[in-house]
Amino acid sequence: MKRKITLIVCCFIGIVCLLFASAYYLMNARSFQIFGGLTNQVETDELVVALTFDDGPTEKVDAILALLDDYQAKATFFLIGKDMKNNPQQTRKIVEAGHQIGNHTFSHERMIFQSQQFIKQEITKTDQLIREAGYQEEIDFRPPFGKKLFGLPYYLSKHDRETITWNIEPDTAEDKLAYVQEKIEPGSIILLHPMYDQSGEELQLLEEILQLLTSQGYSFITVDELQNL
Ligand SMILES: [Zn+2]
Repeated sequence: MKRKITLIVCCFIGIVCLLFASAYYLMNARSFQIFGGLTNQVETDELVVALTFDDGPTEKVDAILALLDDYQAKATFFLIGKDMKNNPQQTRKIVEAGHQIGNHTFSHERMIFQSQQFIKQEITKTDQLIREAGYQEEIDFRPPFGKKLFGLPYYLSKHDRETITWNIEPDTAEDKLAYVQEKIEPGSIILLHPMYDQSGEELQLLEEILQLLTSQGYSFITVDELQNL
């Protein structure tokens, strides 16, 4: 009897662990979610990639736009509502320069275990600020920290919105440029964080990536353009 109880307890613990492990995998998966469309790269033979910048806008926008301009590069900016509220003129500059703007929520909180009402508010308030800046194209979405489980993908699929993640994240590597060089392939989506960069390193990395990939014949287009190839 005692052995039977021990066996049942062990099975129960095993199942709970498995459920947690699956939820953790799902929450962090870059190429898969339960509901709705998700893109983390695009299959193509053309030498094109999409640079994506998360967070902001901040006063770094001028420097980022100037660099992109130097390389005739178009990029995609996933902006935070509260940052747009504080820097409306920076959002407008991005729109006027012809780049793509995406929604990265209003408060940049993890969209895990949040109510549908909260998710709706986060997304619609941010959409509104993007529209106020004059952006007229379809607005893609990227979750803060790339994290999603059930509620967020459900909301997005119900509203016909696509989730954009990435397949290249230089911040995870020690030698970021070498990592990009090794991982790059046509149709890649690269994630960078230059908006709060106080050291200047992320901007420098952006320039090095622009230089390196241009020398390899790549051009830089928006996520939308990549998907429409
Ligand atoms: Zn972010």
